[in-house]
Amino acid sequence: MLFHVTHTHDYNTCMAHDDSRKTKFSQTISKADDSNVKVHGVYADPPGHQIFIVVETDTMEQLVKFLDPIIDYGDYDIRPVLDFETAVKYLTNTPE
Ligand SMILES: [Zn+2]
Repeated sequence: MLFHVTHTHDYNTCMAHDDSRKTKFSQTISKADDSNVKVHGVYADPPGHQIFIVVETDTMEQLVKFLDPIIDYGDYDIRPVLDFETAVKYLTNTPE
């Protein structure tokens, strides 16, 4: 199952100039396999203090385990998503 994770912090809790937190965040991403999570992509909006992660995993428990090391680095908005091709396949245009 695919999830779109939006991480948000603010300028008070920004890790951009904090090497320790920045390293821990990066290590968490690179160790995703340990939680049976596959990372499809990571994108950043540094001035907006947001990081967007697309991950694939079977359970919410695995996702929580994956995020545990950085769970207190900000807020996480997690949404289940489909790739567009799959979404189109499941969306039918049934006449009324
Ligand atoms: Zn920031």
